Amino acid sequence: MKITRQKHAKKHLGFFRNNFGVREPYQILLDGTFCQAALRGRIQLREQLPRYLMAETQLCTTRCVLKELETLGKDLYGAKLIAQKCQVRNCPHFKNAVSGSECLLSMVEDGNPHHYFLATQDQNLSMKVKKKPGIPLMFIIQNTIVLDKPSPKTIAFVKAVESGQLVSVHEKQSIRQLKEEQGLVKDPEQRRRKKRKKVSGPNPLSCLKKKKKTQDTNSSASEKKRKRKRIRNRSTSKVLSEKQNAEGHLLFIHHEACHLQEIKVCCVY
Ligand SMILES: [Zn+2]
Repeated sequence: MKITRQKHAKKHLGFFRNNFGVREPYQILLDGTFCQAALRGRIQLREQLPRYLMAETQLCTTRCVLKELETLGKDLYGAKLIAQKCQVRNCPHFKNAVSGSECLLSMVEDGNPHHYFLATQDQNLSMKVKKKPGIPLMFIIQNTIVLDKPSPKTIAFVKAVESGQLVSVHEKQSIRQLKEEQGLVKDPEQRRRKKRKKVSGPNPLSCLKKKKKTQDTNSSASEKKRKRKRIRNRSTSKVLSEKQNAEGHLLFIHHEACHLQEIKVCCVY
């Protein structure tokens, strides 16, 4: 019995590896019901799961599952202890925790990109999982762990891919990797930067050049004027300083009749 069970598992694993890019170590997301069933069946998950799947496994769960087990109280204390020993994977419900089943479903959304296995005894959850292609489903029956055969939805998806109607997630990933390696795809940030440059590039620059030409003439003229003024100021300041040195108090009488610029010069002294 055990050998046939393992043969089936090996066959299913091969199917998921070839069509969905599932790789070792297999990441198995557990919920509270699976932990409880393992406890009742006295199944040592850390020992038996790798032996059954003939591969390295990682037992994972989420914060939402742990919180749900905490709220359920003493009846599920043992299941909570099992779940607490698992690796906690980040879920999108950081602020507001949701139910364990809802959380696990969200973890395998968008084509199960992290290649999670889902291990649950929850019939509703497993029905929803089966409606999405590419998610290996595990459960415990008669005190033994079972990897479920690929769901009809999963098989239909693979057939559609083979007939060329769809592109599998695994293929999409490999295509993206090839494009990145050849430099055909760039980061979205770089794209945005380039787009901004293209939009704001030519017109403002051409406008600036024209303005610069007009500004240069104006500025050169104004600079000349300024220079002349400065020369006058210097001359007045020189006169003032000479007068200050020579006449002392008489300098202030002169200042009341001065222009503003000359007054500023006077303030220095
Ligand atoms: Zn969550």
